[in-house]
Amino acid sequence: MDSDLRGKKLLVTGGAGFIGSAFVRMALESGAERLVVLDSLSYAAHPANLAPLEQDARFRLLVGDVAEPANCREALELAEADWVVHLAAESHVDRSIDDPAPFLRTNVVGTGSLLEASLDHWRRLPAKHRVGFRFLHSSTDEVFGDRGDGPAADEDSPYAPSSPYSASKAASDLLVQAYGRTFGLPWIITHSGNNYGPRQFPEKLLPLAILRALAGEPIPVYGDGRQVREWLHVEDHCRALLLAGLRGRPGRSYCVGGGCRRGNLEILETVLQALGLALDATTLQHVADRPGHDRRYALDCSRFLQETGWEPRVSLEDGIAATVSWYQDQKDWIAVARERSGYQGERLGRRGALDGDRV
Ligand code: NAD
Repeated sequence: MDSDLRGKKLLVTGGAGFIGSAFVRMALESGAERLVVLDSLSYAAHPANLAPLEQDARFRLLVGDVAEPANCREALELAEADWVVHLAAESHVDRSIDDPAPFLRTNVVGTGSLLEASLDHWRRLPAKHRVGFRFLHSSTDEVFGDRGDGPAADEDSPYAPSSPYSASKAASDLLVQAYGRTFGLPWIITHSGNNYGPRQFPEKLLPLAILRALAGEPIPVYGDGRQVREWLHVEDHCRALLLAGLRGRPGRSYCVGGGCRRGNLEILETVLQALGLALDATTLQHVADRPGHDRRYALDCSRFLQETGWEPRVSLEDGIAATVSWYQDQKDWIAVARERSGYQGERLGRRGALDGDRV
């Protein structure tokens, strides 16, 4: 196995969400000795995501808020953490347009309170454990802003976030780096592209498209649908996070993309193909673009490939076909997600638009 976690004790924040729950399963399969999840169980979490792990004596779920220092301290103590893997966040750009406040609280204040508790925990570790400690922070390619026709972003690209979401992530990255520079806390930041796969809350492009198509409803396409993203299967991302922790250098950022760059329309066509449907006026509906929508993200991942040997294993076509069939089989999961959140697939993120724009 290229990601052996035997002997490691982990605190994973946001472990009941999409990427977090995939990471938790992979970390336990990779031999982690103990794993505590700290998660507030927001609308984006799902009780079924972690339910199968409840029998595993190595696993504990602590329901709590990363923005509450006492919750962070309790989780770190319970985990006796060697690694903090920070995945808790408000993660949907459209929601950040409608109401940035939860993004500031969780992504900025929450990261600050987790850093403060981690610093205290790290300083009290025996010297042997202090050396191996890692604060692994999951960031996004969105902090580098719209790449337009320019080169792919790398770790030295300046930050230029466009949305309240990406600005809050950029702020959290800077806090992490400051704790390294000022206090010596050993951090690693990964900038990942768009993740897809099972258990993603159905407000994001892919699950929203799948559920609309399954219901026989047209899929909304923002603007001309030619916005390019770098797509990464969630399992490939989680393996990258493990390798970043095991092989990455503390005090360094890594771009984790995989090079699979596609326009949104191409992605939707692949979804429709997997369902045996054509891309036409009955299956797609163009709607007003997202305010401030970035046209293109692209990542240069040379540093990460060279230093960790990681490479993606899931092709986009196979990954999307498997994701489509997962959602087809998960009526209960979808019903619970909708009931817990109250979200039924409606358009979000319109606050920045002008009156009279077509929805
Ligand atoms: P998600 O929205 O599916 O899950 C977020 C999880 O965090 C949920 O379980 C939620 O309950 C928890 N959470 C939210 N606020 C919390 C709080 N105050 N305290 C404790 N827990 C809280 O998100 P995701 O897609 O799994 O993303 C995970 C991380 O990866 C985020 O930091 C996100 O910014 C980053 N990321 C995501 C993508 C992507 O494509 N999904 C890409 C790059 C980076």
